[in-house]
Amino acid sequence: MAPACEPGKPVDRGDQEADEARLAREREKMVEEQIEFRGVYDARVLAAMRTVPRHRFAPGIPPMQAYEDRPQPIGQGQTISQPYMVAWMSELAASNPPCKVLEVGTGSGYQAAILAEMGCSVYTIEIVAPLAQQAERILEAEGYEEQVHVRTGDGYLGWPEEAPFDAVLVTAAAPRVPEPLLDQLRIGGKLVIPVGESSQTLEVHTRTADGFEHERVGSVRFVPMTGEVRR
Ligand code: SAH
Repeated sequence: MAPACEPGKPVDRGDQEADEARLAREREKMVEEQIEFRGVYDARVLAAMRTVPRHRFAPGIPPMQAYEDRPQPIGQGQTISQPYMVAWMSELAASNPPCKVLEVGTGSGYQAAILAEMGCSVYTIEIVAPLAQQAERILEAEGYEEQVHVRTGDGYLGWPEEAPFDAVLVTAAAPRVPEPLLDQLRIGGKLVIPVGESSQTLEVHTRTADGFEHERVGSVRFVPMTGEVRR
């Protein structure tokens, strides 16, 4: 009888390629049906969403499930955001490369990978250490280690040594807008942040030469931002 696993025999590459092709088709469908259909047209965002293998950022769920039209669990009670939300926030924050972006709430690392794929250098902070470590490992395995810098900690204070940023994205809901994040925007830079508790609004704050302008762009649902912002 042949051994169940013959030493030295490679895994079936044909099967692996077929799986990757199926997932790439699922990704294409995700972009067309969930993202373009809802009105995100920024070419760099769409190209990035077509390229980044979302399923690798949510290793705890079946790969096809990662492409569904909703957030998915990533452990530690946290989630990878719905694909559309990642695309929309990326479009709202987008500025031309070379761009420098701060993300608060690394989670899976997927949003950071999308921003990197759009040509930005990304500084991302995660308060839950095991998630920061897992995201860092995946980002490295996917080849984003040069463009994405991960730090464990409370994102409330931002990343002052690297400021100013062209954009700051907060991917957890804050009860109020953290001042230090506004301070770290360059003129023309944008802070994109969900504000609220059970009912939340996505806000965009733009730094102008003499202050800030802000608009509310829609209703959203994110996990709560924890740490200093609650004090
Ligand atoms: N952008 C993520 C989605 C993250 S969910 C992705 O692409 O997968 C929100 C994340 O924000 C959670 O992982 C949560 O632990 C983190 N978070 C909450 N409060 C935070 C804070 N004060 N500083 C940094 N991260 C925070």
